[in-house]
Amino acid sequence: MELADRLLATIADAFDVEGRALRVGLSIGITFFPDDATDVAALLSNARAALDRARADGRGVFRMFEANMDRKLRERRALEQDLRSALASGELRLHYQPQVNVSGEIVGFEALIRWCHKERGTIPPAEFIPVAEESGLIVSLGEWVLRQACREAASWAKSVQIGVNLSPVQFRQGDLPSLVHQILLETGLNPNRLELEITESVLFDDLSRASSILRRLKSLGVKIALDDFGTGYSSLSYLQSFPFDKIKIDKSFVGMIQKNPQTVAIIRAIVGLGRGLSMDIIAEGVETLEQLTFLSEEGCHALQGYLIGRPHPIEAYADEVGRPAAMAGIAARRRTR
Ligand code: C2E
Ligand code: CA
Ligand code: CA
Repeated sequence: MELADRLLATIADAFDVEGRALRVGLSIGITFFPDDATDVAALLSNARAALDRARADGRGVFRMFEANMDRKLRERRALEQDLRSALASGELRLHYQPQVNVSGEIVGFEALIRWCHKERGTIPPAEFIPVAEESGLIVSLGEWVLRQACREAASWAKSVQIGVNLSPVQFRQGDLPSLVHQILLETGLNPNRLELEITESVLFDDLSRASSILRRLKSLGVKIALDDFGTGYSSLSYLQSFPFDKIKIDKSFVGMIQKNPQTVAIIRAIVGLGRGLSMDIIAEGVETLEQLTFLSEEGCHALQGYLIGRPHPIEAYADEVGRPAAMAGIAARRRTR
C-alpha cells in the first residue's frame, strides 16, 4: 500500500516535456499471492478486477482485490458467454426508430440493438455493449448489425436513410471500410442511404487513424453522423478535422429545454455551428410538443424521439417504409376476405 501511494504521488506530478507540462493518469489494482489466488491467470484476473474498481472509483487511486469483485467479474464473464451464444442463436434483434424532418415526413430510421435473453428477459444495450466492447465481441456483433440493417433497408420501397451505430472498437480492429463496402455490395443498398453514427471517442483515441478511416468510409458514399454531441469533450477541432454530414444533439440537452435557460443557448449555438459548417442537425430524445416546436423554430433539420416514434421491430413501421413483407401480408389478408 505504501508503494502504491508513492507511485500515485510520483505520477501525479506533471512531467516537463520540451517545455510543456504533461500529466499521466495512474490507477492501481492489487491482489495477493497466495491468499487471493495461487495461479497466474486467477491472480491477473483478480488484479484486473481491482484495477477496474480503482478506475470506477474515479481513477488515480489504488484498490485491493475483494472476493465480491470476483463475483461481479464472474457475472460479467457469464454475460459475455451468453452474448456469444446469443449472436449465434438469434436472441439479438434490431429495433428501428423513425427520424422526421420539420414537415413531419420520415427521412430515416436508426437501428438499435435489442437482446432478449432467454432467462433474464430484455437486457438494455447500455449494459451489454460495454461487455461486448471489452471482450472484442463487438466486432462480430457490429458486423451483424450492419449487415442486418443494410439488408432490411435495401428491401424497403421508400428510399429513406438507415442509421447504424458504430463502436470505437470497430475502428481499432479489422478493416471497417472494406467491411462496409462488402456489405453494401452484398445487400445492394445505395451507399447514400447508409448513415454511420460515431461518437467523439472514435476521434479521441487516435485522430489521424480515425479520420483516415472516416475518409475512406465517406469515399464509399456513406454518410457520417456525430452522435451524442455536447456530452463528451465536444472539441470543436473535431468538427474542423472531419466533414461530418450530420450532428446529433444529445437527448440530455433536449430534455433540459424547458428547464434550463443555458440549454437554449447551447442548442442555438450547435444549430449555428451546423449552419456555418454545412452539417445537418438532428435532435434526439424529443418527447414533448414544446421541445419539437422549439427545435423546429431554432432551425434543426430533423427530429427523433418518443414523441415521433419509439424504437420497434420494423414490422411496426412496415407501411412507413413500404416493406414488401407487409404488402404481401396485406395482399394475403385481402385474398382471405
Ligand atoms: P444512442 O445511439 O444515443 O441511441 C439513442 C438512445 O436513446 C436509444 O437507447 C433510444 O432508444 C433512446 N431514445 C430514443 N428516443 C428517446 C426519447 O425520446 N427519450 C429517451 N429518454 N430516450 C430515447 P437504447 O436503444 O437503449 O440504446 C442505448 C445506446 O446503446 C445507444 O445510444 C448506442 O450508443 C448503443 N447502441 C444501441 N444499438 C447499438 C448498436 O447496434 N451498436 C453499437 N455499437 N451501439 C449501439
Ligand atoms: Ca445513435
Ligand atoms: Ca445518441
